Order: sequence, then C-alpha cells, then structure tokens
Amino acid sequence: MARRKKIYEGKAKIMFEGPEPGTIVQYFKDDATAFNAKKRDIIQGKGVLNNRISEHFMVGLDAVGIPTHFIRRLNMREQLVRAVEIIPLEVVVRNYSAGTMAKRLGIEEGTPLPRPIVEFCYKNDDLGDPLVTEEHIFAFNWASQHDVENMISLALRVNDYMSGLLFGVGIRLVDFKIEIGRQYDGDYHRLIVADEITPDCCRLWDIESGDKLDKDLFRLDIGSLSEAYAEVARRLDLLPGNELIVPRPSN
Ligand code: UDP
Repeated sequence: MARRKKIYEGKAKIMFEGPEPGTIVQYFKDDATAFNAKKRDIIQGKGVLNNRISEHFMVGLDAVGIPTHFIRRLNMREQLVRAVEIIPLEVVVRNYSAGTMAKRLGIEEGTPLPRPIVEFCYKNDDLGDPLVTEEHIFAFNWASQHDVENMISLALRVNDYMSGLLFGVGIRLVDFKIEIGRQYDGDYHRLIVADEITPDCCRLWDIESGDKLDKDLFRLDIGSLSEAYAEVARRLDLLPGNELIVPRPSN
C-alpha cells in the first residue's frame, strides 16, 4: 500500500490524507503532554483508549443530532473523519470550578457554577492558548458573530449530552474543551464538532469518591493515566468481555 501523506502531527494525534477527498485519517498516539508540552511522557495504550472513547462520544452526539466530523473507526488507533477548517479557538465549557478558572477567579475547585460557562481560548501554543473575549474574536476575524453564536449553542448541547451520559456511569463532567470546524458546501458552511473528545480534554471526577479520571492525574503526577482511562472505557462498556485492565478490590 502506498505510504499515506502526513498532513499534520500534533501532540497527541497525527493526521493523514484520507482515502477520499474531504476525508482525513486521525491516528491517536500514546504521547501525553501538559503545561504546553513542557511535561511529556509515553502512556502505553492511551491512544487506543482515546480512539475508542472519542468514537463513542462522537457517535452518540451524531445520534442525537449534534453534527461531528466522525465517519468511522478504522482500527485500534485510527478513525476516518471529515476534513474541516478548524476555527482557531478552543471552546471550553465549565460546570464546576477547576483548573485555570479556579486559579484566575479564586473559586475553590469543585464549586458548582450557577450555570455552564463557555470560554474561548485562542489556539496558539507559543502564547499558551490565551483566554480571549468575543471582541478579540470579531476584531481579528477568527469567527463571525453568527459562528460564535453557533459555537456556543453547539458547545452547550455537547455539554448536556456528555454530562447526562457520564452521570449515568457515575462520572461528573467538571469541564471540557472541544474544537469546532467549518464544513463547506459551496459558499455555505456548517459548524461541526471536530478533533477529539477524550479524558485528555475533559475533567472527569468519580461522583462518589471525587477521584480524578482524566489528564490531571498526569499533570499533577498523582496517579496512573492508563488505569483511569481504562476505567472510563470500562464504565462506558467499551472494553470487551470482562477485560478489567484496572484491578478492582473484591468486597
Ligand atoms: N483543555 C484542553 N486543552 C488545553 C487547555 C484545556 O483540553 O489546551 C481542557 C482541560 O483538560 C480542561 C478544560 O479544557 O478539561 C479547562 O481547562 P483549563 O482552562 O482549566 O486549563 P488547564 O488547567 O487544563 O490548563
């Protein structure tokens, strides 16, 4: 088979040209990075789990009418997705205070927010993805007012779907980040959820114990990422048979 053309290599994924025009193959690596890639490691099996978890969330979103780039999973580490023009903004939705919001505003981690809060960060690693307002977005032409309204509505719908799904398996969706792309049809474009939805870009806390099941374990060096991601996959019923990668205490 001819070698595929690499389009782009990011911190956790590689994009290859897809088999048909308008498609891309998204390959999930085992690399974990934090603090703008100042901390990095290889977590065996992370890419396999994230490929499967992102597929599960994206398929579910599509099923309830929230459009995504996902077409189909190709193998353990790869999925076929629609090529889109990525809007250079990270869209963060927060249900509870954590991370940079907790620090910036001095709101204790874990405090429930009065309503979900949507934030935009400008996607630029050299600048550390700074928080921006709609004023910046319009002034620098990163997205139109119409796009921003649609992005907020898409992000809140993703939040409702994901919060409910995860609540059903005993997990609190504290916050998450998505990326949104423009899919063109002639002059018209629609916005769809792109990139990935995995524990790399969500904060997931066990509802009963409060244990973290996300990338904070790696950021803060407080536990095994692969065990936590496998636990998320196990609860979502994505691991075949009784394959419990995480040893669970017998009682
Ligand atoms: N997030 C992400 N990529 C980033 C920044 C944040 O996926 O480059 C996610 C992060 O995992 C968390 C949410 O967005 O679920 C909010 O992150 P926050 O702004 O608190 O920043 P962090 O503490 O992750 O640096």
